[in-house]
Amino acid sequence: MSALRFVLHADMDAFYASIEQRDHPELRGRPVIVGGSSARGVVAAASYEARVFGVRSAMPGFRARALCPDGVFVSPNMDRYAEVSEQVHAAFAEFTPDIEPIALDEAFLDITGSERLFGGPLALAQSLKQRVRDLTDLSVTVAVGPNKLVAKIACTLAKPNGLRIVSPSEVGPLLEPLPVRRLWGVGPVLAAKLARLGLKTLGDIVRYDSRQLIRELGERALELQALAAGRDSRPVISERAPKSIGEESTFEVNVLERELVSAALTAHADEVARRLRRTGYVAHTVTLKIKLGQARRRREARVGSDGDEPVYPLLTRSKTLRAPTDDGRMIRQVALGLWDAARIQEPVRLLGVSVSQLGGRERSQLDLFSGSHPKRELGLALDAIRDRFGRESIGPAVGHLEKVSPSLRKKSGD
Ligand SMILES: [Mg+2]
Repeated sequence: MSALRFVLHADMDAFYASIEQRDHPELRGRPVIVGGSSARGVVAAASYEARVFGVRSAMPGFRARALCPDGVFVSPNMDRYAEVSEQVHAAFAEFTPDIEPIALDEAFLDITGSERLFGGPLALAQSLKQRVRDLTDLSVTVAVGPNKLVAKIACTLAKPNGLRIVSPSEVGPLLEPLPVRRLWGVGPVLAAKLARLGLKTLGDIVRYDSRQLIRELGERALELQALAAGRDSRPVISERAPKSIGEESTFEVNVLERELVSAALTAHADEVARRLRRTGYVAHTVTLKIKLGQARRRREARVGSDGDEPVYPLLTRSKTLRAPTDDGRMIRQVALGLWDAARIQEPVRLLGVSVSQLGGRERSQLDLFSGSHPKRELGLALDAIRDRFGRESIGPAVGHLEKVSPSLRKKSGD
């Protein structure tokens, strides 16, 4: 339905431990354990030499010492790591502005579009690895996939010092054999529940009958099946993420009738919701914009202005929702409620609906337990049809709106 995306996940290999080994050559090739040297401390990072013994981060220090008696325990030097982290993220930033930092040593990069400047996703990933190596003398594992979920999983599988490009046709074969715990949001409780149904791998989940799975798990079953199949529309949320998404139209003939207002708001809400779903955002706040139809005259002091200029008063009304949404009906309902509350008494020349306070559709386990997923599935299905057959093919009020206002001027953007 939408164009192919390229999402890159980059994760430095054994970051803290590698920095220590780089800065202290005598530690190279030895099992280095950062943190965990005090009685109650936990391991912050372990070099690959230490991981061979089963040492992992977040493990209590005494446990690490038991597993790896010859380990070299080093106190963390966070200032140093933060310094190197800045270099790493600066390297990432040379490849796209659309970066979502995840940790000191880890980020998602949306390289859709920018990948062409580097000769494709593989060439970009190779350049990025080399750039990080040049700047820091450290290795990073990089994976590119059609979405965050695939990129993250592929990156984990490619470690250390790996490079993996996963095309859409490779997603199924990559994910199918993986254990269910590989998915975000699948904790021990859900995993045990799935195991009781005989579902051990992501492929098992995908192949399981949807209706049966809904009976077992509730609505989150659909979400789970989508994730298991490698479908994930969450955006890479960067500083450049849109602040708002809006639609507005100026009427040829000013309107006041509630039916016409409702038709316009429905069309706008619908399109706003479609753009939210396409980009993977959900919105917390809905804003209604109203431009009154009667111009007021205002004395203009500006040089070059020839006196009075008509000014159409502009009103905005906003409401923040308890739970974020990407549902057109919800947005319409809120916008119409704002219209009613505004008690507009004169015809208006412009109506706009926008949403702001955007966030990604996070998939936590909590999220999997709640939410209106069937409605979302419906929304996405409608989007797919619209994309294929054009905007006017579906939508309760679009035709009506065009009838009342044939030369409606439309403005998209935020
Ligand atoms: Mg790392």
